Amino acid sequence: MVIEKCAVCGEDLFREVTIFDKTQLLRRACACRRAELEKEEKETEAWKRHNRSRDIIDKGYLNKGYAQYTFASADEKDSKIVKDLKQYCDNWDKAKAVNRGVYFFGNYGTGKTFYASCIANEIRNKGEYVLIGSAAELVRYFTRDYGRNEEAEDQVRRYPLMVIDDIGVERGNENTLSVMNEIIDMRYMAKKPLIVTSNFGLEELYKGSGIYGERIASRLEAMCVPYKVTGKDRRKNG
Ligand SMILES: [Zn+2]
Repeated sequence: MVIEKCAVCGEDLFREVTIFDKTQLLRRACACRRAELEKEEKETEAWKRHNRSRDIIDKGYLNKGYAQYTFASADEKDSKIVKDLKQYCDNWDKAKAVNRGVYFFGNYGTGKTFYASCIANEIRNKGEYVLIGSAAELVRYFTRDYGRNEEAEDQVRRYPLMVIDDIGVERGNENTLSVMNEIIDMRYMAKKPLIVTSNFGLEELYKGSGIYGERIASRLEAMCVPYKVTGKDRRKNG
């Protein structure tokens, strides 16, 4: 049997296949067609990745500004904190399994927001959904439309990573405090990692005329590993 060959690569365009003693000629992919298929598949993958990452940013990033910070843009790429946080990201599956987040605290301008965002973006790049916003943004989002925002509740309960930036500034606003309490409680019950940044240490959140009650502080303590950020003044990043 003479089998037709591709004019370009010279490979057979058909192959003999015997089924139940009956031999047929079936089309096969020559080298050109295989290359074409591979290219198509790569394009589809790239398209899916692109759309997925946009989707993730749009849904969980309450402020798109958080998306810009990466370890690659850190001032000191091999500082202890960058190494520690990269290690946290490398061990993300374990962190997720045991529900361990990070509580970044330290003075204003040390880069807490920057570092929390680096983790968020690294985890997002692994294909995980991340909910990230400042405490104020989260409260506004949570209470949008003068009622309960069910989508927000779903995200707090289901997203593998959640970041609350700059907690503690809501001091004195009873309504904001109670919504924040509810959000943290919900996250705690969901047993999923939470990353928090604050100018206040955990004990400052509840000691004396504390900002939050002891219950919330102890929940944060149960969920997050405290990490003091002492870096030089970054100012623009908080
Ligand atoms: Zn060919």
